[in-house]
Amino acid sequence: MGDEKAVPFSVLCSMYNWMAKSKSSSKKRSKFRKFLDNYCKSPSDYFNSIRLILPSLDRERGSYGLKESVLATCLIDALGISRESEDAVRLINWRKGGAKTGVNVGNFALVASEVLQRRQSLSSGGLTILELNVLLDRLSATENRAEKTGVLAELIKKTNAQEMKWIVMIILKDLKLGTSEKSIFHEFHPDAEDLFNVTCDLKLVCEKLRDRSKRHKRQDIEIGKAVRPQLALRISDAAAAWKKLHGKEVVVECKFDGDRIQIHKSGAEIHFFSRNFLDHPEYEHAMSNIIKENILVDRCILDGEMLVWDTSTNRFAEFGSNQEIAKDAKQGFDSDRQIWSDVAFDILYVGDTSVIHQSLKERHELLRKVVKPSKGRLEILVPNGGLNAHRPPGEPCWSLIAYNVEEVQKFFNETIENRDEGIVLKDLGSKWEPSDRNGKWLKLKPDYIRAGSDLDVAQFLVGLAERSVPNIYPRRFISFCRVGTGLSDDELDALVTKLKPYFRKNEYPKRTPSFYEVTNNSKERPEVWIESPEKSIILSITSDIRTIRSEAFAAPYCLRFPRIDRVRYDKPWHECLDVQSFVDLVHSSNGN
Ligand code: ATP
Repeated sequence: MGDEKAVPFSVLCSMYNWMAKSKSSSKKRSKFRKFLDNYCKSPSDYFNSIRLILPSLDRERGSYGLKESVLATCLIDALGISRESEDAVRLINWRKGGAKTGVNVGNFALVASEVLQRRQSLSSGGLTILELNVLLDRLSATENRAEKTGVLAELIKKTNAQEMKWIVMIILKDLKLGTSEKSIFHEFHPDAEDLFNVTCDLKLVCEKLRDRSKRHKRQDIEIGKAVRPQLALRISDAAAAWKKLHGKEVVVECKFDGDRIQIHKSGAEIHFFSRNFLDHPEYEHAMSNIIKENILVDRCILDGEMLVWDTSTNRFAEFGSNQEIAKDAKQGFDSDRQIWSDVAFDILYVGDTSVIHQSLKERHELLRKVVKPSKGRLEILVPNGGLNAHRPPGEPCWSLIAYNVEEVQKFFNETIENRDEGIVLKDLGSKWEPSDRNGKWLKLKPDYIRAGSDLDVAQFLVGLAERSVPNIYPRRFISFCRVGTGLSDDELDALVTKLKPYFRKNEYPKRTPSFYEVTNNSKERPEVWIESPEKSIILSITSDIRTIRSEAFAAPYCLRFPRIDRVRYDKPWHECLDVQSFVDLVHSSNGN
């Protein structure tokens, strides 16, 4: 024992199984402690094991590029089974079941282990923790799907279905052990969480804190090491937010809808760290000159949101553009019309000093001193200045100091009308704390989404009519969004009862009725079809006014946060909205 090369992965699997089954968090922790004491001796043992227990925090390996759907195809190929076989369909359709609906539907790892069980032996394949890490390194290092499949085939050879199930969960970076990362860290070392929060470096934490009895001096943030961001607490309405921040000096800001990015600048060296602690060099080409010219100090860390600026409209581009530009940037294209733009709303480090302990008000002053804003490229979000000075005439400002709840409500209403995602309220006297979500920042968004599991109870794939000839009943309908919320349970019951006699089973991948058009995206195919459009019912839908370009649905745009407003039993089926009218609506609301 203790020779890490020899520690079988099956030992870790027994610990996973035990932890997942046990309800008591102290028992989970003591099992983890026993594992550490018995099997981790050398410095690298700790990291090699803990990265397999907290896979979402392991940035050494980056991303595997394997979300469930791609992983399904790679596993099917690695197992050498036909993509049309029942098991392959089950894996592809893991969310809703294949021909036979199994009990594990909705849990990819369980569906995978069901499929694997029929093909792998019961006894452990003898894979060691070290071998697994080497293979996972290979899996993340290649972008080539065939090579990924090869690594998975090797893993399958060296494991049984139980072990492989856990490996699938490691790849998906969620082990569902029912224990928080906080308690894992705490059991490992009392200072582990703090050190991780300011370094985002699991390897370093494992190396520095191996000895539980030696306390570590609290470490501050450093340039060049990602720090876990300060977060916002969700709050239901303006009144509740105001109450929570009672007596504080409050700034309200627009909640921009881009990517949270920390810019670390040290001389000519610049890093762009995202929420998952990864460095994003793709911003470098577009942003480094601006940063060098407009940041007036040699060393600093800015916290902000990376957005896309549309030079033709002189506005931030609509939600979704980030992903599109990122794709283009990867392919080497450079769009002149749409460019990256950073909105810095905070500053964490200046010169050789961390400033997170200063108040937000003081940090705003530092932001003003350190950054020379450049329109549409590098902006600062501070009250009475910065980005506010660049707002288009007649449009609401982006941040202001609020003196009463009415002002917060008004600001919220304006940002929503202006198609922003919501607002963030901040205590101007507060310091910036890594990974904190205790209410120094509050986020308020239009509450379109009914939380909880009832979201999946009934969802409808809705379509738009395609009218080839005016005044003739439409013959084709194209999918454009999925909607499940908005109706009371009784209203929903009534609707389902009415439609139920006309439900026809969807047998993926074939047999989409000829009058419906959907994409091949398996997630966006219904479990049942309505037998024919005449039997269907019109739903009136409200949504966030922004629309998104759609790939998942057949229509060119889909809705954000759709919600059923009313069931229109009164309207005949053929009077439903058609594609052209919808597209016109989108264009007119976008001001085109
Ligand atoms: P959400 O999905 O609501 O963005 P989240 O979990 O990603 O939630 P939260 O901490 O809950 O993140 O919300 C804060 C996020 O909002 C930040 O991570 C940042 O990306 C974004 N954001 C946009 N504008 C601001 C702003 N003015 N101040 C702080 N955060 C902002």
